Amino acid sequence: MYKCSLERMTDKIKTFSKYGDAGHGGITRYSLSPEAIMARKEFEKRMKAIGAIIEVDDVANMYATLPGSDPTAKRIVMGSHCDSVKNGGNYDGILGVMSAMEVLETVYAEKIPHKHPLTAMIWTNEEGSLYPPAMMCSGIVCYDYLPEDIRGKFKYEDMLASKSILDSSKTFGMALDASGYKGDKKYRLSRDKYLYMFETHIEQGPILEDNNKEIGVVDCVLGMFNYRIKFYGQTTHAGTFPMPKRKDAFFAASKALCYLHEEIDKLGYPELVYTTGEVVCHPDVHTCVPDFFEFSFDSRHEKPEVLDKVLKIVKSLEDKNWCGCTCKVEKAWNRDTVYWDKKLVSYVKEAAEEAGVSHQYIHSGAGHDAQFCAYVIPTTMIFVQSKDGLSHCEPEYSKPEHCTDGATVMLNAVLKADKEST
Ligand SMILES: [Zn+2]
Repeated sequence: MYKCSLERMTDKIKTFSKYGDAGHGGITRYSLSPEAIMARKEFEKRMKAIGAIIEVDDVANMYATLPGSDPTAKRIVMGSHCDSVKNGGNYDGILGVMSAMEVLETVYAEKIPHKHPLTAMIWTNEEGSLYPPAMMCSGIVCYDYLPEDIRGKFKYEDMLASKSILDSSKTFGMALDASGYKGDKKYRLSRDKYLYMFETHIEQGPILEDNNKEIGVVDCVLGMFNYRIKFYGQTTHAGTFPMPKRKDAFFAASKALCYLHEEIDKLGYPELVYTTGEVVCHPDVHTCVPDFFEFSFDSRHEKPEVLDKVLKIVKSLEDKNWCGCTCKVEKAWNRDTVYWDKKLVSYVKEAAEEAGVSHQYIHSGAGHDAQFCAYVIPTTMIFVQSKDGLSHCEPEYSKPEHCTDGATVMLNAVLKADKEST
């Protein structure tokens, strides 16, 4: 049983938190921004210092590899992303990068024998906060293996043309060219060269903390669906038109949303989550009765049969009269539950047990680069407890002790994977 270093991990957390420091406890570090470049340089510097070989692919994904004893063996890769949302925290994504670095640094410092080359990596533009969509560069690299309806969103040319949300004259392709990190396609993660993938990430939810567990042994990323629910009424003057004669699309939508909550809660699945986070109102003027209102509806659960029941309720909205307005339910997209590789999950569980780190099985409700990677090579994830379950905000926090234990669990799980074929 090898242990990672709390001192080294704490130093990394402190150092990386400077790159994009927004001045109130968190960071804004958009992909390929000057702040993200500083984080990449730090990664490069520290990995070169232990003799790792640095490679960068054509969409700036970075790979730092420590050779193993068998030059013909495939690589075991660990990593995550170093970009953040606007006013995000110091742990989302970067913890997975720092954990991968910590594993390599521990292997180097303790001279741990290993057969397979071990790689720490950074995925470019996971958040998609400046250049949408999210998980852009894992989508590009894993493209050939992704299900048809998902891959359509990650065409290489479309991604290069993705416009900055702050300045529509700038594209992701331009940022890539200017970054100095546009490498070679031959370095992309592939089945030929890579054997397994591990991603450590903060939980971004309250389950581990509520159960007093440090580490989550993640078994899957939840399946989900995303629908747009639209209401069509009649606009008219807010001051002159009597209430009983109105077809107010906003009011209709609000009634329908309450109906959804009541009916879905009656299903009684405690792990089921569903969210309306985006709305469109037309004409969106305070003196006009709205004639159009649209809201998003995102629902997630492990079991497809549960999501089917929710979807039945959502679709039933079309058959009802909503204050004189008509309702249309349109699918935006969905994805099936992605299960992690059972053998790798068991390595993580055994490693946590052997290291004496408190743990439990957990699902991932959020999407991660690892879920695309899972279509290419066997993949799994490790979660580290998040304080108050908060993420994508500045108070996001995970204890350095827990972060280090997460890296220790990943190190020992990787070593189990390394030994399996010898
Ligand atoms: Zn993340």
